[in-house]
Amino acid sequence: MTTIGAIEAGGTKFVLALAAGDGAVLEHARIPTRAPGDTLPEMAAWFEAAAARHGRIGAFGIGSFGPIGLDPAAAGFATFSTTPKPGWRGASFAEALARFQAPLALETDVNAAVLGEWLAGAGRGCGSLAYTTIGTGIGSGVLKNGKVLSGWSHYESGHLLVRRDPALDPFAGVCPFHGDCLEGLTSGPAIAARWGHDLSSASPDQIALIAGYAAQAAAALVLLHRPERMIFGGGVMKAPGMIEEVRARTRAALAGYIAEWDEDLSSRIVLPALGDDAGITGAIELGRRALETTP
Ligand code: ZN
Repeated sequence: MTTIGAIEAGGTKFVLALAAGDGAVLEHARIPTRAPGDTLPEMAAWFEAAAARHGRIGAFGIGSFGPIGLDPAAAGFATFSTTPKPGWRGASFAEALARFQAPLALETDVNAAVLGEWLAGAGRGCGSLAYTTIGTGIGSGVLKNGKVLSGWSHYESGHLLVRRDPALDPFAGVCPFHGDCLEGLTSGPAIAARWGHDLSSASPDQIALIAGYAAQAAAALVLLHRPERMIFGGGVMKAPGMIEEVRARTRAALAGYIAEWDEDLSSRIVLPALGDDAGITGAIELGRRALETTP
């Protein structure tokens, strides 16, 4: 049997799966993200052992943190570039997995997650779907007709410039590039820097402030992409009352201009359904598609 190797590469852990040609999981594992010289060989050894049990790997699907080269035709494909993660600049999936001589299908972590949620989670049946994660960092993936969209590279919704009222929020933001961009104001590190605690002990006013910025990003996504549904995930979205507040403020921000979004939005703006499995589900699907198109 020809199998699929799937990887969800995150800042703290790598989730690995070996799947059958139809995407059904045969085996999976988690390994902690350490230095690339430790993690990448451990990953390759796991795939080698799993493939020995189930069959040769015909393609890999990968959803990864970044920045990482996403263009298969360019030098530096599947290689980390300017990532702030210590030691990972120059680390390469292409190199680590070369011995398998299998094609690699690579997307960012959030793009793999939007694909996973579309296939098996909160985005099932949607012709167009956006997925935004608000956690340590912020990113959005947009999918149309089952295909993840991108430009020269993946989208960077975390650095959208949002309106801040200094009287309401004097915090100048933590983004080293922009100060008070979306990520500079609403990421986990921004929240910790502003209040000295995370949102688990937040007041309703604090939740409302963060939701207001998330809603500005949500409104921008609606205006640019007109998705049928938007999923908002990540640690910040787990705060009690956050999703309801984001819905209300997105509706208010759009102010009735887009008819489909002028309602209570409980089926338009939703939390992820697959939780921690969205990324690996999407990575398996990337690998399955790569296998399908490999002669
Ligand atoms: Zn920024």
